[in-house]
Amino acid sequence: MIGQRESVSGAHFAFTDRWGGVSAAPYEQLNLGGAVGDDPDAVRANRELAAGSLGLDPGRVVWMNQVHGNEVAEVAGPWTAPHIPAVDALVTASRGLALAVLTADCVPVLLADPVAGVAAAAHAGRPGMVAGIVPAAVDAMKRLGADPARIVARTGPAVCGRCYEVPEAMRAEVAAVEPAARAETSWGTPAVDVSAGVHAQLDRLGVHDREASPVCTRESDDHFSYRRDRTTGRLAGYVWLD
Ligand SMILES: [Zn+2]
Repeated sequence: MIGQRESVSGAHFAFTDRWGGVSAAPYEQLNLGGAVGDDPDAVRANRELAAGSLGLDPGRVVWMNQVHGNEVAEVAGPWTAPHIPAVDALVTASRGLALAVLTADCVPVLLADPVAGVAAAAHAGRPGMVAGIVPAAVDAMKRLGADPARIVARTGPAVCGRCYEVPEAMRAEVAAVEPAARAETSWGTPAVDVSAGVHAQLDRLGVHDREASPVCTRESDDHFSYRRDRTTGRLAGYVWLD
């Protein structure tokens, strides 16, 4: 259910694993993604189960329509419009409002400045990391009063640099933007380490309280992995402030 959970000075960070939900194969069990072909009733039930295990009201969890871009939306409450905005990061200054990010190999990035009372959740896949979704999220937090020196950053389970094989030209394109993301697979071919890229970006922004999950989704049977399974569920990362 909840694979990792941590609280720092009233800021809460949590990442799910794939167990403890009601979805049938190939989404078993705790698929939290609503756009992957799973039964919507199962997804709704899973979101309620996950929220309940975190002590959250499922109606106070804000999701986004992720598109691998670099747009950020500021939210003060649940969406009221019928269409959820196509953004890859959410930022809030509303305490008690949880922000959620969906992934299956991409890097879920959770950020919080407990002093300013500002939180953000970002979806950083390879395109989003290159496009600068993480700096955009930190900028949005700063506009709400956050200080990078106080921001606590946690990144969740994601495909690791030894597993994320890409063509040589793609590795070169990514490394030209973010050298830290240059990697090689365990079998010796070009690869990208998106998590390393995200952490390098955060470091340059002055965010130094950072931790990365040791879990590689592609290597873990307890996590959804798009690159391993193609049709599969989505994990979620949640961040909120007391
Ligand atoms: Zn791996």
